[in-house]
Parts: sequence; structure tokens; C-alpha cells
Amino acid sequence: MNIARLLARTAATYPALPALAYGKKIVANYREFADQAAGLAGALRGRLGLNPGDRVALIMKNHPEYWIALFAVWRAGLVAVPVNAKLHLNEFRYILENCGSRLVFATAELAAELASLAKELPTLETILSVEDAAYQALKQEPALPLQDVDGDDLAWLFYTSGTTGKPKGAMLSHRNLLAATLSYFADVTSHDPGDCIIHAAPQTHGSGLYGLPLIAKGGIQVTPESGGFDPAETLGLIAHYPNSCFFFAPTMVHRLISSPAFDGADTRNLKVIVYGGGPMYEADIRRAIAALGPRFVQIYGQGESPMTITGLTMAMIRDEQHPRRSEILASVGVERTDVEVRVVDANDNPVPVGEVGEVVVRGDVVMKGYWQNAEATEETLRGGWLHTGDMGCFDEEGFLTLKDRSKDMIISGGTNIYPREIEEALLTHPGVAEISVVGRYHPDWGEEVVAFVVPREGAALTPETLDRHCTEQIARFKRPKEYIFIDELPKNNYGKVLKTELRERLKR
Ligand code: AMP
Repeated sequence: MNIARLLARTAATYPALPALAYGKKIVANYREFADQAAGLAGALRGRLGLNPGDRVALIMKNHPEYWIALFAVWRAGLVAVPVNAKLHLNEFRYILENCGSRLVFATAELAAELASLAKELPTLETILSVEDAAYQALKQEPALPLQDVDGDDLAWLFYTSGTTGKPKGAMLSHRNLLAATLSYFADVTSHDPGDCIIHAAPQTHGSGLYGLPLIAKGGIQVTPESGGFDPAETLGLIAHYPNSCFFFAPTMVHRLISSPAFDGADTRNLKVIVYGGGPMYEADIRRAIAALGPRFVQIYGQGESPMTITGLTMAMIRDEQHPRRSEILASVGVERTDVEVRVVDANDNPVPVGEVGEVVVRGDVVMKGYWQNAEATEETLRGGWLHTGDMGCFDEEGFLTLKDRSKDMIISGGTNIYPREIEEALLTHPGVAEISVVGRYHPDWGEEVVAFVVPREGAALTPETLDRHCTEQIARFKRPKEYIFIDELPKNNYGKVLKTELRERLKR
């Protein structure tokens, strides 16, 4: 099934319902959305001469046209390559060359920035600004019928965030995207016409994937006018749109509730914040629940298994009576309905409950492999299981707790130390706003533990108070040997803390 069918189906049933919004303004209903996508699909296969399977990159800051371009690409049987708009020109060049994209849809500023690449990259024929009249005219071309595709055909090349090495293109098929969408309905939430998703996080990543269930059910895609996350603007949109939903990185949840605009804001319209993509510490989720009520769902996934490995449902997050509430809030929840998840040792044998190993997953949602990278595909999908590179352990009830990515683990004196545990402990100190723990080379021990701490405003923190706080909770050998106070943690464009950069700082 072509995933673009989701739009065709909803447009037939609810043509007059609002579909796309820019800030508080509705810019297209479902009939208009579907007609424009069908016209643009006609232009892609006709005037622009693209053939089934050709790659089309979308390099756009969050914008309503993203949805029209994305569905046009799918309707036409082409492959979408959504690229994070905040990347550097060199990274755009790498991705465009790697995927051999013939066409780029870009927002105006980015189209200008990308112009130089058209001369350098032989496969890249056209860069279209979605804010130009020429693009608008393409949407008026004769409509192309929904193209038949095989479920295994490629729909989305999802470039990994590349926190280590060059980004790789995870090949997601139409079936993978459908599986992710159905799994959302099974485990995350349900929707009715008129619900909305507010894209404060990049549409090219998790927030965009969560546009699909809303399109399936006649909901609204709301793009903030800022094109991103501004807490005051986000709160204004929540007050405006009933049943508003979000996908947030955990750091965004923290920023929203710490914003001065949060005091007195009307958040009654908020239906759910789905958080994931990085660790949510227990102390932070407790603060968030106290501020907004238990309107949260957690997901753990990765580009290679989009948004779908394990999850904490709203019911689990609400369950204050659970005897192990702390552990559950600090976990990433249970296996999602449509996948199998295991924790394995270095030889790929499952380890007993309670033991740490690598998290592996299989199911219909798991990617087909990496684009033109047979070696990485074979390594990552060996034995038919996706090897996530994340370390974790299951408990008796099936809750998975992530430790760290294998490369972030600290080995000191031959003992494995998981930074996450130390971070969890230190974050319970009221003076700590954010924290990241990494290993530093030590001639005797191999590595030693160092903590980078962002203090809360006005907090008078000293290494001694933090050391005491830490040793009250966890074993002495795990405590940081040094605390480094900084104003902010280095993060990538998805809000993930760059531990590689912190480790680099320690080498200087
Ligand atoms: P990406 O493919 O860029 O979405 O990155 C996926 C990685 O982010 C995973 O392999 C995990 O290391 C991390 N991640 C995703 N969701 C969570 C979560 N809920 N808690 C902790 N880490 C997460």
C-alpha cells in the first residue's frame, strides 16, 4: 500500500475539515491539501521528469508546504529524503550526494543557501523554493492518480543524526511507515477529526512521523510561524487549538515548563506530549507531571525502527500506586505491540532478566537496511534483528531500562559504569538544572568519571555538596572525580547532548 493513501482516504471522507495550519491560520482543508499534492505529483512525474524510485530531498524549516511536497512525492511513487534544516551546508552536500537526489524542495532561505550545490552535484537537477510562484504553479498541473507501489518499496530515506561518523540513510518502506502509524494507534493514543499536532520539533524527524496518524484520522498539522520551538508561541498555540498534541525531545519538555511564559498559561487544550529521542530523567518527568498533569507518553525508537521499540503508555505514567513507580518512570517502558525486543550479549544470545546487554528489535517497522551501505546493513541487521547500539536491561514485568549507548559507557578499573545512573542521582538535587556525565582518560584506571553540571539559576552549588548528594544514593566508586560547571550543554539539532564534544573538551 502507498502510504499516501492515508491522505486520499481522509480527503474523500472529510474534504472540508481543516488540514494544514500556519500558526493560528488554517491554510488548507483536506480537499485543498489532497488536490495540491495530486497536482504536484503530476508535475513531478510529468514536467520534472522524475521516475519511480527517484529520491527527492525536502530541506525545509518547518512549513505547511512540507506536507504537500511529502505527499506529492509518495503519491508519485518517489522516495522522500527529509533533511534537518539546521544542518551545515557540508552535511547537506554529503546527504544529497549520498542519496543521489535529483530534486530538492526547500524553504526560500535554504534554497538560496543550497544553490551553489546544484553546480557541484551532477545528479542534482533542480532546487525549488516552496515559497516561489513557480512552485505554486506546479501544484496546478493535472492531477496524477495515486501510484501503485509495493509495500517493500522505499518511501523515506531517514538520515541518522550522525553523532558518531557520517550519517547513514535508513531505508524505510511504505510498509514500515504504515506499521509505525498503526503501532501509534495501538500504544500511543487515538485521534478524532479536529485533533492537532503542533510541530515545534523538526517535521523531518519524530514530529513529522507523528503527522501521519493525524492525517489518517482527519487531524490538523499546525506549523508554528517561528518554524520551531519557542515556549511562549507554543503555549499560545496550545491555548488556541483544542486537543493539541506534540512530539518533544525531553529537553523541550524541560524548557517548556521552565519558561517564564509557562506561569499562568492556559494548557487545558493539551491532549498529550509524547517524549523520546533521548533520556528523560525521573526527576524531570516528575516535575513535568506536577506542572502539566499526567498527559505524557514515552516512546523509545530510532530512525532504523521509527518511533517504535518500547514505550510507557499514559496509563503507566498515571499509575502512581505502582510499587516500583520510580523505576518505571526511569525506564523506557515495555515492548511495543508490533515488535519483539530482546537484550543480548556480545554473541547475540539473550541475557537473563536484570542483566545488561544490547537492545535488539525485529518487526514490520524495522528498516530494510542502510542506503548503499551493505556492510553496515549486514552488521546492524545480523540474524534478522536490528542491533540498536543501546545498552539496557529488562525487569520481571517487561520494563526496559536503558543504560547508555555502548560507546557512552565508562570503564573504570575494569568495571562498567553507566553515566545515566549518576545523572539520575544528581538530577534529584534541586540546584541542578541539567547534567551530563562522561569518562576521561586516566593512566591507572583507564577512565574516570567527570560530571558537567548546569546549575539552576541562583543555586549555589559546590563539588562538595554534589559529592555528598551523589554518595548518599549510589556506590562511591561511581561518583564523579570532578564537577565542571557550565552555562549550557552542547546539543545537536535534535536536542541530544553531544557527549563526544564533552569528551573532546576534557582532552584539551
Ligand atoms: P535517532 O535515530 O536520531 O532518533 O536516535 C535514536 C537514539 O536515541 C536511540 O538509539 C537511543 O539511544 C536514543 N533514544 C531514543 N528514544 C529514547 C528514550 N525514550 N530514552 C532514552 N534514549 C532514547
